[in-house]
Order: sequence, then C-alpha cells, then structure tokens
Amino acid sequence: MTAETIFSKIISGEIQCDLIYKDDLCIAFNDIQPQAPIHILVIPLKPIVSLNEIKTEDAAILGHLLLVTKKVAKIKKLDNWRTVINTGSKAGQSVFHLHIHILGGREMTWPPG
Ligand code: 5GP
Repeated sequence: MTAETIFSKIISGEIQCDLIYKDDLCIAFNDIQPQAPIHILVIPLKPIVSLNEIKTEDAAILGHLLLVTKKVAKIKKLDNWRTVINTGSKAGQSVFHLHIHILGGREMTWPPG
C-alpha cells in the first residue's frame, strides 16, 4: 500500500485545492506556495511516489502528464514556461507523490539553485 500524502488527500477531496484541470488520469491545481506568478502542479491520480519508482507500464500516464502540462500552459496563456520534477529529498522533493511543477509568468534563470 502507498503511504498517504497531502496530494492523495487533495485527490480524495479531504484537502481543498484551486483546481485548474481534471481528467480520468490526473489533476492540476495551483501550488499553495507559488514560486512564480503562475505555479501549477500536475499530478497523476495513480499514487506514483517519484520518477525513481516509475515502471514501463507507466509510460502512457507519464506521456499524458506532459500533454496536460501543455494543455494547462495554454489555459494560462503561457508561451514560455518551465517544468520541474524533483526526485528525492536532496533534489527538493517534499511531497512523495509524483508531480510536475509548471512555472511561468516571469523570466526564468538557469541553472536553478
Ligand atoms: P516538491 O518540493 O515536492 O517538488 O513540491 C511540492 C509542492 O507542493 C511545493 O511547491 C508546495 O508548495 C506544494 N504543496 C505542499 N502542500 C500543498 C498543499 O496542501 N496544497 C497545494 N496546493 N500545494 C501544496
């Protein structure tokens, strides 16, 4: 069994979120602590912990998540945006349910910290 996370509670409706997009495989909602004028998280409904745990059978859902990042960027009228997936606590992952950050609405610098 996968451990409960804040995101599994958002999926179940136990915790509220600012929903931007929803379909059969994923949801997208505003990050509670935005790091850019637009900061949205796209998460699969399936409780995948991180990219460290993905399997070949997850290929379709992973592709779908990327297609949804584009959909969300278009909903928000973004032509330039950054996607981030933190994998593991030392890489900045704090919620252990796979999520893609979509950041936009300001200039981005590189490399990230
Ligand atoms: P990570 O650090 O794991 O890559 O990203 C987790 C993200 O989830 C953070 O940007 C954090 O602000 C966001 N977050 C944590 N708790 C909540 C919550 O309860 N609601 C929402 N909408 N975002 C959250």
